[in-house]
Amino acid sequence: MPAPALTISQLNTLDADAFTQALDGIYEHSPWIAREAWAARPFKSLVGLKHALAQAVRNASVDTQLGLIRAHPELAGKAAVAGQLTAESTNEQSKAGLTHCTPEEFARLQQLNADYKARFGWPFILAVRGPRGAGLSRQQIIDTFARRLRLPADFERAECLRNIHRIAEIRLNDKFGVAPEQGNLILGWADDLAVHSEPGYAEQGQLTVTYLTQAHQAAAAQLVQWMKADCGFDDVSIDAVGNVVARYHGTDPQAPYLLTGSHYDTVRNGGKHDGRLGIFVPMACVRELHRAGKRLKHGLELVGFAEEEGQRYKATFLGSGALTGDFDPRWLDQVDADGIPMRDAMKAAGHSADLADIAKLRRDPKQYLGFIEVHIEQGPWLDEIDQPLGVVTAINGSARYTGEVIGLASHAGTTPMDRRKDAAAAVAELVLYVEERAAQDLKAPSGPSVGTVGVLHVPGGSINVVPGRCQFTLDLRAPLDTQRDSLAADVEARLAAICARRGVDYTLERTLTAAAAPSNPAWQSRWEAAVHELGLPVIKLPSGAGHDAMKLHEVMPQAMLFVRGGNAGISHNPLETITNDDAQLCVDAFTNLLEGL
Ligand SMILES: [Zn+2]
Repeated sequence: MPAPALTISQLNTLDADAFTQALDGIYEHSPWIAREAWAARPFKSLVGLKHALAQAVRNASVDTQLGLIRAHPELAGKAAVAGQLTAESTNEQSKAGLTHCTPEEFARLQQLNADYKARFGWPFILAVRGPRGAGLSRQQIIDTFARRLRLPADFERAECLRNIHRIAEIRLNDKFGVAPEQGNLILGWADDLAVHSEPGYAEQGQLTVTYLTQAHQAAAAQLVQWMKADCGFDDVSIDAVGNVVARYHGTDPQAPYLLTGSHYDTVRNGGKHDGRLGIFVPMACVRELHRAGKRLKHGLELVGFAEEEGQRYKATFLGSGALTGDFDPRWLDQVDADGIPMRDAMKAAGHSADLADIAKLRRDPKQYLGFIEVHIEQGPWLDEIDQPLGVVTAINGSARYTGEVIGLASHAGTTPMDRRKDAAAAVAELVLYVEERAAQDLKAPSGPSVGTVGVLHVPGGSINVVPGRCQFTLDLRAPLDTQRDSLAADVEARLAAICARRGVDYTLERTLTAAAAPSNPAWQSRWEAAVHELGLPVIKLPSGAGHDAMKLHEVMPQAMLFVRGGNAGISHNPLETITNDDAQLCVDAFTNLLEGL
């Protein structure tokens, strides 16, 4: 018979020794972590305890952290072979099938262990039970091992600690007898929806779902089926631009609805949580409400937006734009890479492509309380500070430019250094200035600015020619329009000064100005309260990426909740990942917010 599960209230009553004893084995051979965390009692929840344990490690010195890493066994290493692992490690390594390696896999792992130890000086740490807690495949483990062998050392050390926290999290779930049921449901939906991918990508296991392709239509049909059959929404339909719209009515037919949702299209070879998580979380909440026979005063309207990424056609935010009345009629004539006009793609998908039908999708803001969106952070911040959730303060405003510096091409051997008009060197100065100037806002009260020169191109460049021209792009973002404008003004002025000093010409064209979308204070504080109620500290951060909420911001109050992404928050990439426990926290926070209305 398994030992009875531990509870948080029991744990809160224990003295330091008993507390440390109760959490023995959660962190490998490192009782000091529980002892440190003891001081942070009482814990409101299991996630509060997990957070306190992670903070104890964060507050430790680098040497102590390395000691924790070194307390771990190698994967399928000598200790494993000799049967010398802790019970917890044995369980994890055998669940991941590491006790059943083929001779080739075993040899590969030994080689990786040796290379890794030689490079970093500590053992490779991976939470082999993975994002779902059910176990990674041996191939996934070997691939991750090989990939991380190439990471910078300080980054890899942090990645090891994050994996140690994930190992601890799963061990705690086992000890407390809890399973993130809705989190598992969401990860299951994400996997199942990702089977729909476009030809050319699907064969390689890559996820690509662009506007109104067959994969896109299949994904929409799948969402409709889940929303109707599994979740119990009252009405579910696909609208004239391909948005999936589902309503769960409230008890008061006069009361305005809360609008929520995110996009189900993806970038090419993207991740399976970007956008989709913001559809799945409300689905999981409504599913629970429906199962409990519960209705709230206000109805919930969930929209799976058909298009946000601007991949097949140059029409970013098409889905949410249709709701704000911003569908540009010229979009219908745009053609994709195969020459198919959007109008034809719409008709082929069974839509009328009639502007009058699209115009009808415009929502009356008076019928809504506001818009909320859950999204994967798509950045490194939350992952880096061991925080599962963050409340968004603003979606950054941006300014984009294309530019060119025009100097004079000349012979690399014969032109003296003081006579050159090197266009690339001028742009290089600008690149360094952008980096320095944006970094000045790192501690700005509203949040940091960012600036990037993503394209640098010397047309017709040659190894023995001083660059005569250099083309570049500029992407500047900040959480306030005024902050972005002052950054932009400084960068523009510096470019002028650099070119004047060097005696070269330039062109600079602003191709996009997007307004910042600060969160509505009342809705932001509802998210903060929802996170606080979970027993987690409230972390606030701006969004560097654009989201559907940015579009809805134009017509109604909005606020977003971010969840951390693993692998340092990588997104628009197959390595994008979240855990079942973090997905569960999203559902819990969303439920708290709904119940607080
Ligand atoms: Zn997205």
